[in-house]
Amino acid sequence: MHIKIDDTVQVITGDDRGARGKVLSVDRAAGKLTVEGVNRVYKHVHRSQKNPQGGRLSKEMPVQLSNVLYVCKACHRATRTGVRREDDGSKHRYCKRCGADNGQIAPARTRQATKS
Ligand SMILES: [Zn+2]
Repeated sequence: MHIKIDDTVQVITGDDRGARGKVLSVDRAAGKLTVEGVNRVYKHVHRSQKNPQGGRLSKEMPVQLSNVLYVCKACHRATRTGVRREDDGSKHRYCKRCGADNGQIAPARTRQATKS
């Protein structure tokens, strides 16, 4: 998965199409993520110790990874991302529109760490 928590993504389909938000959580196994302010639903809750008022609770539900695009930190456009290996062997994510580096996604491998 090329999207991490705290990234900004743009929704490209559905009710929230065009909305941008911060990634709150990522479920790699299910290929889903929750985005701040996107796919909000009202959960109706009864009064309880935790919610003495009860009523409607607004919360974000997960959206499918394929329904969002990563937003580049440099050019702020929704883009696809690529992965390239730097000279030190670490993997970096980059913007396919402007080419800007968007952070390391895997550290440099040392010889000791590689099983032969
Ligand atoms: Zn960019």
